[in-house]
Amino acid sequence: MSDRKQGFDTLQIHAGANPDAATGARQVPIYQSTAFVFKDADHAARLFNLQEVGFIYSRLTNPTVMALAERITHLEGGAGGVCCSSGHAAQIMALYPLMMPGRNIVASTRLYGGTYAQFQHVFKRFGWECTFVDFDDLDAVKAAINDDTRAIFCESIANPGGYITDLDAIGDVAREAGLPLIVDNTSATPYLCNPIKHGATLVVHSTTKYLTGNGTVTGGCIVDSGTFDWSASGKFPSLSDPEPAYHGLKFHEALGPMAFTFHSIAIGLRDLGMTMNPQGAHYTLMGIETLSLRMQKHVENAVKVAKWLEADDRIETVTYAGLESSPYHDRVAKICPRGAGGLFTFAVKGGYENCVKLIDAVELFSHVANLGDARSLIIHSASTTHRQLTDEQRAAAGAGDNVVRVSIGIEDADDIIADLDQALTKALA
Ligand SMILES: *Cc1c(COP(=O)(O)O)cnc(C)c1O
Repeated sequence: MSDRKQGFDTLQIHAGANPDAATGARQVPIYQSTAFVFKDADHAARLFNLQEVGFIYSRLTNPTVMALAERITHLEGGAGGVCCSSGHAAQIMALYPLMMPGRNIVASTRLYGGTYAQFQHVFKRFGWECTFVDFDDLDAVKAAINDDTRAIFCESIANPGGYITDLDAIGDVAREAGLPLIVDNTSATPYLCNPIKHGATLVVHSTTKYLTGNGTVTGGCIVDSGTFDWSASGKFPSLSDPEPAYHGLKFHEALGPMAFTFHSIAIGLRDLGMTMNPQGAHYTLMGIETLSLRMQKHVENAVKVAKWLEADDRIETVTYAGLESSPYHDRVAKICPRGAGGLFTFAVKGGYENCVKLIDAVELFSHVANLGDARSLIIHSASTTHRQLTDEQRAAAGAGDNVVRVSIGIEDADDIIADLDQALTKALA
């Protein structure tokens, strides 16, 4: 094939997926095998030395899983990528090579509830810390960075709350501080936003959501831009110094832009074992082929539903950056020009009680703790995903008592609206 740069719609189908070398199979086969036979002793030694890329054991690499990682890497415009067992695993895997006891990250207050809990509580068991800051206050972000900071973390489109991070501004702060910016791009997907173009070093995904798109499997992915100089500051010894757990290899010196990716496989997956399985990768590969088509429809429907809700007097507010009334509307053109995603929140008159009634009255919507499904989903964050947070933390995350979060599916917009209409009538009766 020529080296013409292919478009998104082509890459989402073809990237990482040549016809199978052994059989000619057109689809990526599910390589349901734990181990792979070495050609001879020398081949085995070369693979273990990272002198040759190949397959050893599926905790580290598997052809089906690698095809998915390569596809997501192409869609994000990165140098390399690694898949793992869930979005939360991707976050730990992204931070693991950068962190040590006593080190910290600076993260946005506007995060997925589970991420907030991971950073707030689980980190402490590793001796890591997280400072949460309002990422619209750039001076506060800068002030939170200290000598022990090893990364800056945010979401492109934050969930819930209809918030879009000014990635260019945060990217500048990270660059000036000599720190990697890690962006969770789950809600936006690479179709709507490419964080690497806005200064991200690493992009993490919960592939569980829109990338799979049908609510079948959990998965995660880390894509590395390949542009960060891991050796410059001496702050990232796992990548710059001899690695004792890998016979003294200096990953950055030896592997350049692929240093982070190889480290994530050779150390991260090998020792942490947060591996994606080939069957799971298959479902996500199937889903990702239609990502652009689905995202267009998610956005189109979300705009229609949000506008309808905004005009309804049973609703207090709608926080969707796709609406002109949103304080973040200006950032759509800059950060996610194809639309603000399919996810938003709205506040219902009558607070907590009416939200719970609404949730119980919907028929087309499914009441689940998930998002990014082809189906429309609804949840009351305060009583579920954000339940563990304090009132203050909930408000900061955009998940107050009167707030309902919807993940607008790709059904007919009229049917989605009709369901909300009948459920609101029951809830506010
Ligand atoms: C779901 C989600 C996660 C966690 O992903 P899992 O696959 O559930 O572990 C992280 N970030 C965001 C934005 C999410 O929506």
